[in-house]
Amino acid sequence: MKHLDEYRDPALARKLLAEIAAVTTRPWVIMEICGGHTHAIIRHGIDLLLPRQLELVHGPGCPVCVTPVALIDQALALARRPEVIFTSFGDMLRVPGSRESLARIRARGGDIRTVYSPLEAVNLAVQNPAQEVVFFAVGFETTAPGNALAVQQAARLGLTNFSLLVSHVLVPPAIGALLAAPDNRIQAFLAPGHVCTVEGLQDYEAMAAAHQVPMVPAGFEPVDILAAILLLVRQLEEGRAQVENEYRRSVRPEGNPAARLAVEQVFQVCHRTWRGLGEIPASGLRLRPEFAAFDAQCKFALEETGEMESPQCISGAILRGESKPPQCPAFGKECTPEHPLGATMVSSEGACAAYRHANRQ
Ligand code: SF4
Repeated sequence: MKHLDEYRDPALARKLLAEIAAVTTRPWVIMEICGGHTHAIIRHGIDLLLPRQLELVHGPGCPVCVTPVALIDQALALARRPEVIFTSFGDMLRVPGSRESLARIRARGGDIRTVYSPLEAVNLAVQNPAQEVVFFAVGFETTAPGNALAVQQAARLGLTNFSLLVSHVLVPPAIGALLAAPDNRIQAFLAPGHVCTVEGLQDYEAMAAAHQVPMVPAGFEPVDILAAILLLVRQLEEGRAQVENEYRRSVRPEGNPAARLAVEQVFQVCHRTWRGLGEIPASGLRLRPEFAAFDAQCKFALEETGEMESPQCISGAILRGESKPPQCPAFGKECTPEHPLGATMVSSEGACAAYRHANRQ
């Protein structure tokens, strides 16, 4: 296929659905790890068109959703400081911390700015030398290269008023943690297309072999997702566990070496706590010691705060693939995109928001 329209072709989608139905003989549980896939699946009703034996469960691949409350509280503490211009992607603004959100602080006059790239935050630091500019560096392997380049640029410019509040997470260790859970039901993964574009397939091949689970990196159009599901079901039915690359137009086996090099130069692997999943060893990135001057946690001596989630929110179970949003008693009642109780309703990649936007119950 050469053109995007072909990845949305209804006739091709129907053919793939028929092939999936023909090869499925038993119940299987497949997790789509990426929030972008969750939104595409729900928006196009793909889960409703599959054979009944196939269950799709949603995973923790929404960076805003897995950022722990403690880190959001640290962001709030920074954003309240009069000398700080706090910068972030827009999705983070309404995510609730223990008591409030960045949006509330901004409404009270806090200098919180939405940026579209971390380099915009570097420019703000150049333009405002008397203030401290902090960028909230959240995300998976996809956003880490841009944040690494921002730190390298700030170092080149000799900036002393720019720093990152880092909450980077890595997908393969989270997949390992989900598979190691005693009550795990996941038998195959729709692997995250954008993450694999950066990281390549090596880690996923090791994971597929070690855990004997099929993995297929997929694009984000309906035909991509159906083609990937077909590859996964064929593997499951035949007892194979391999990585098959559906997203060849973007994913190379070696990934993007330049992006990976920038990340390796600036960050090192660390243990990281995920909202809803708890601490996962070696599942995050932090700045290397030589870049400590750009680390907001060191620079401002931020302290851990006591976390407080809404007691009504079951987003942890949703991020682990154990529950679906309509099973939350607050879904569409106390919790809506306008008045979210949890991050999975706030984020544009969150599962609760996907169901709500598609009017699914
Ligand atoms: S509907 Fe709201 S309260 Fe329920 S799990 Fe989703 S975000 Fe949390």
